[in-house]
Amino acid sequence: EAKKLGRNNYQWFDNSLDAEILKALKIRNALQSGIDNKQFELHYQPVFNLHNNELIGCEALVRWNHPSMGLVSPVDFISVAENTGQIVPLSRWILHRACKDFKKVKDLMASEAVISVNISAIHLLRTEFVTDISNALAAAGLEARYLQLEMTETVMVDHPELAIEKLTELKAMGVRIALDDFGTGYSSLSYLKSLPVDVVKVDRSFINELVNHRHDAAITEAIISMAHHLRLKVIAEGVETSAQRDYLRRCGCDAMQGFLLARPMSKITLTEFLESYKATIEQDDKELTPRI
Ligand code: C2E
Ligand code: MG
Ligand code: MG
Ligand code: MG
Repeated sequence: EAKKLGRNNYQWFDNSLDAEILKALKIRNALQSGIDNKQFELHYQPVFNLHNNELIGCEALVRWNHPSMGLVSPVDFISVAENTGQIVPLSRWILHRACKDFKKVKDLMASEAVISVNISAIHLLRTEFVTDISNALAAAGLEARYLQLEMTETVMVDHPELAIEKLTELKAMGVRIALDDFGTGYSSLSYLKSLPVDVVKVDRSFINELVNHRHDAAITEAIISMAHHLRLKVIAEGVETSAQRDYLRRCGCDAMQGFLLARPMSKITLTEFLESYKATIEQDDKELTPRI
């Protein structure tokens, strides 16, 4: 009986592994025609300033509308695209699209608002990376100070010298840098001081349990306090409840993003969202009532 069970387990494991590989292969083959046939789309999630209730930018999140597979999550295709190198042309397209779209909506947001674009380490480490950034900005006619690049700390840990060199060059151009998913990787708090970074984004996993778990609250508070000592801004990601928002506000967190304010949305929906937000905030100013 035990032997039978063991064998079944093995079989199950084997099949699921095959399924994983098949899925990755399918995605790899489909990615190229996806790039050629413009099956990608950017959605945008607004970022909200907790001190003054202004909208201070949005994050571009890529979506893949595959004709037969349907909507494929970036979680499923970004890593495949990284392994094949297809992330580089895809990332160039994302940068161009995001800068162009932002140029049209930026006047509906705070004057310091930025478009935040996720960058893969594979692209960052390419020799053409900095040129790709300036090309995207030039093509959109957007000043560098409106662009923020999000990257995870793994690239800083794996290739610290090259990463710091590139980021320093970008910062000199006026581009802003955010550390994404902060707290999930190695997160040596001390190394932050040597990085050319402007913003820290606290990972959603800590925000999730913020109100119920003392440890997550302690970590979040420590990140906020340390970041502020280093003169960095803090954005909390994945804020879903008003209790989480209130907690973050009390801790002095600078900004938030999450389903509580808005889900990622198409460019058209974003424009409508920003217009109606602007209208209500102007109304609220007259009535002196706080927003959200
Ligand atoms: P990320 O950069 O940390 O993006 C935040 C993710 O959290 C997004 O998932 C977003 O839809 C989701 N999210 C936002 N607010 C909430 C919330 O309140 N609750 C919950 N449960 N989720 C929330 P998405 O769009 O599926 O993207 C997943 C990841 O894929 C991103 O994580 C990023 O690492 C990667 N990614 C997305 N777009 C791009 C891109 O254009 N380029 C690259 N290189 N990576 C991307
Ligand atoms: Mg991000
Ligand atoms: Mg993030
Ligand atoms: Mg995340």
